[in-house]
Amino acid sequence: MSVRVRFAPSPTGFLHIGGLRTALYNYLFARHHGGTFVLRIEDTDQTRYVEGAEDDIIRSLEWAGMTIDEGPNKPGEVGPYRQSERKAMYLDYAKQLIESGNAYYAFDTPEEIDEMRERLKASGNPSPSYDSITRQSMKNSLTLPKDEVERRLAAGDDYVVRLKVPRRETVKFEDLIRGVVSFETAGLDDQVLMKSDGMPTYHLANVVDDHTMGITHVIRGEEWLSSAPKHMLLYKAFGWEPPTMAHLPLIMSPSGGKLSKRKAESEGIPVNTKDYIAGNYEPEALVNFLAYLGWSPGDDSEIHSLQELCELFTLDRVSKGGAVFNHKKLMWYNEHYIRETSVADLAPRVKTLAEEAGLDTKSDEYLNTVIELLHERVSKVDEFVAMGSFFFETPSEYDENALKKWKEDSPAMVAAYKAKIEVLSDDEFKAAALKTALEETVAENEVGFGKVMMPVRIATTGQGFGPDLFPALELMGKDEVLSRIDTALERLR
Ligand code: GLU
Repeated sequence: MSVRVRFAPSPTGFLHIGGLRTALYNYLFARHHGGTFVLRIEDTDQTRYVEGAEDDIIRSLEWAGMTIDEGPNKPGEVGPYRQSERKAMYLDYAKQLIESGNAYYAFDTPEEIDEMRERLKASGNPSPSYDSITRQSMKNSLTLPKDEVERRLAAGDDYVVRLKVPRRETVKFEDLIRGVVSFETAGLDDQVLMKSDGMPTYHLANVVDDHTMGITHVIRGEEWLSSAPKHMLLYKAFGWEPPTMAHLPLIMSPSGGKLSKRKAESEGIPVNTKDYIAGNYEPEALVNFLAYLGWSPGDDSEIHSLQELCELFTLDRVSKGGAVFNHKKLMWYNEHYIRETSVADLAPRVKTLAEEAGLDTKSDEYLNTVIELLHERVSKVDEFVAMGSFFFETPSEYDENALKKWKEDSPAMVAAYKAKIEVLSDDEFKAAALKTALEETVAENEVGFGKVMMPVRIATTGQGFGPDLFPALELMGKDEVLSRIDTALERLR
């Protein structure tokens, strides 16, 4: 039997980073086993539907390099791949359960259900539910005469279909990550399967689709573990073999607790995949990082391409415990992938970002040298622009922190240095000569290296730190460097 897995997001907003990890684990598992990766859009809750969410999901998966084998954008044999387009079939399946005595029509109004709950609360039941006991006193096809049920259905009365949850049963299943999971049905609500608007609930649609789409493994977040027993009851009621379950550990915030949207925001962690795209993260870095967020290959290797991860990934190496989202670690990955990327591949991206920032990158050769000078220093591609903007335009301001290091004798030191380099010809204006000039200035004035180096850096770059100064000066060229020094001496006197 070949592996078929699905990523089944609800289009209720932008794709959360946790959702991207779920998709990734499904994708890796599928590829590892030469199986199929299905995208199914679970859009039965129309009140929570967000326009554009599906596009965002597809774009995010594509950006991360996960190829969808079947989905709304790539129809296969078991489509459609949007639940809203499968609407007609769910009622048939619900009816099948009614006929086999596993489900029933319920006509109770919300008020009547509230009344029931109030009544039971008053008589000492703290959490009343619509269950094997209470259903007997409600308006449903188990209690009403058959002809009244038919009359109500024919008249188009509002109804829901509920699962007849057995009174006392232990539901057990083996989860590939969590081991044997067991759950008591006592106290479980008779789950609504079809809503009064004719839409199935998540539970029914999810089970019907996983079965009819031939899904062999359900890999999803831990937050769905409590739904799994309900799904198991449904599989049993249908007489279907359930897929193998694997519930992934939660993603935790560095300060503890689940990484909620609010927590992530307060800790400076981008929460939606689109923020990583817009934030110019390397997809390979995010993928590598996410793969390790709850899984490891069992050795101390850390860097793996998507291709390698596909080969290495197995569910038995996924951890049970929550995985802490360490943003610094992500930046470490990002930095690694930036270093691995060639100057030629970086150049067009940096050029675009610089142009977006209104900067002119001059010639290709000039831009390439800027990238070479900064390659070991940046951890994200947009930092080439942030850190290197002075290469492309004369700084109009001096960094405040840097200015703390601009001392009383700084103008004199910069002037002394200028005197040494202005006599160099254009051809002589090279890193080595510029360094020698600085060493001479230091020696002649009997000061420390930093006493000259720092003010020269501030004067020419506007910053207190940055790439190797001498090759940077060489690149900017004699005229530009001298003119920047003059400006600084005027403005910072
Ligand atoms: N639609 C659910 C979600 O938004 C799917 C859960 C599952 O995989 O069963 O995550």
